[in-house]
Amino acid sequence: MDLKQIISHCKEYGFIFQSSEIYDGLSAIYDYGPFGVELKNNIKAHWWKSMVQEHENIVGIDSAIFMHPSIWKASGHVDAFNDPLIDNKDSKKRYRADSLIEDELSKYQQKINKEIKKAEKRFGENFDLTTFQTTNPRILKYNDKIASIQSQLEHALKNNNMNSLKKIIDELEIRCPISGTSNWTDVRKFNLMFDTKMGAVSNDASKLYLRPETAQGIFVNFLNVQKSARKKIPFGIAQIGKAFRNEIVARQFIFRMREFEQMEMQFFVKPGDEIKWYDFWKDARMKWHKNLNLHLADYKFHDHANLAHYANAACDIEFRFPIGYKELEGIHSRTNYDLSQHQEFSNKKLSYFDAEINDSYLPYVVETSVGLDRLFLSILCGSLVEEQVKNDQRIVLKLPPHLAPVSVAILPLIKKDGLNDKARTVFNHLKSKFTCHYEEKDSIGKRYRRQDAIGTPLCVTIDHDTMHSEKVTLRNRDTMDQVHVSIDNLETVIKEKLGI
Ligand code: ATP
Repeated sequence: MDLKQIISHCKEYGFIFQSSEIYDGLSAIYDYGPFGVELKNNIKAHWWKSMVQEHENIVGIDSAIFMHPSIWKASGHVDAFNDPLIDNKDSKKRYRADSLIEDELSKYQQKINKEIKKAEKRFGENFDLTTFQTTNPRILKYNDKIASIQSQLEHALKNNNMNSLKKIIDELEIRCPISGTSNWTDVRKFNLMFDTKMGAVSNDASKLYLRPETAQGIFVNFLNVQKSARKKIPFGIAQIGKAFRNEIVARQFIFRMREFEQMEMQFFVKPGDEIKWYDFWKDARMKWHKNLNLHLADYKFHDHANLAHYANAACDIEFRFPIGYKELEGIHSRTNYDLSQHQEFSNKKLSYFDAEINDSYLPYVVETSVGLDRLFLSILCGSLVEEQVKNDQRIVLKLPPHLAPVSVAILPLIKKDGLNDKARTVFNHLKSKFTCHYEEKDSIGKRYRRQDAIGTPLCVTIDHDTMHSEKVTLRNRDTMDQVHVSIDNLETVIKEKLGI
């Protein structure tokens, strides 16, 4: 299915709505509807169980969205996201527009140096550098060019004029070092972080940021958690929480949002052990995704060739979305960069005393970071299928049963002759054991189709026979097989079929 079909399915069946829709929507912000919130909660619970509860050496936290503003200075977010940026459309590489221009200027300087070297050779002992520099027409031309560009650059930066920066790039015909083309976007100055004010006094001291990643809440709590949970290295801290980024490119439904949720785990290891653990988590996370056993799923690794300055290994797990292979999860070996930055900026020691070697060190960190909403989208894309059944078509959301928003739908064949009362009795018995849904409106065929579209793995139908046989019909979403099961045995059979 293409992204358009997925978006309309999400709206029709109450999974996802555009935020503020009646006010024409808010771009790249989405609300989860009744079935969407159930699916999202189930995904979170599954991640938490497998990452935290099933690992003796991983604990969770829930840190606040607002943090001390110095945290974002230490992490590099305040400075690194505050540049005039430009993207090359062919290589998809993003650059600081001012650095591109400065690099170009240095090429002119190199040309000048070359001219000087040539002249030195030619004139030998008689060479006079000052005279040459002030009279040689080529050098004069290059120097004029440098001076003119430098003044334009300074002027544009001083006035925050992004159009002027773009004009300079165009005039100099600057090319992308990777693609070799000058197919550029416009220049934009932006910081990806949203900011807001705390308290009544409006000055810079009260400026706060909405966190652009959950990881920093883990780094700054590293010692609190290590000491209170009495953890020894290697151990991990996990967190699920909202993150906010003022994304520039935000046109791909819940793939790229301005408000989203991350599920991150920072694993603290002894320096030198990080690549071993990086390989371990790379493998474990890929297995985790594959174990979801989606109906249609295609994953691959994308190893990063160009590493961020703080990383010594990094890769993405990519999923084949309808828009192509795209990052679903990042696995990064981030050295001790974050802890050492926080140690420096806070002036508090963050080192760990390792009793085994009787020495202290700043641990290295391997992180796994997956976007909950992106994972939600990958699960939808891997589960939503259109099937031909006899002369009809049906849309089925073949979700893994443990993630389905509704596990069992209880459906009386008709809403009279006591069938509805009987169905309610069955519903009341099962509702504390499974996520159940009672529905009596529309024909049974239509109700089955609706449950298929929501992804409900099992439907229980109460018909006239049930009234004397005490048996119900249990319908399987994927095979559409129907079996009769006695009400007494229903709970056990459902558990078996759901695999729980
Ligand atoms: P991208 O390159 O797609 O912008 P990123 O490399 O900036 O992503 P990270 O900072 O590594 O992403 O964040 C970890 C994970 O958080 C990503 O793998 C992705 O699943 C999720 N994520 C990041 N940005 C967004 C967003 N704007 N909307 C939804 N999920 C996001």
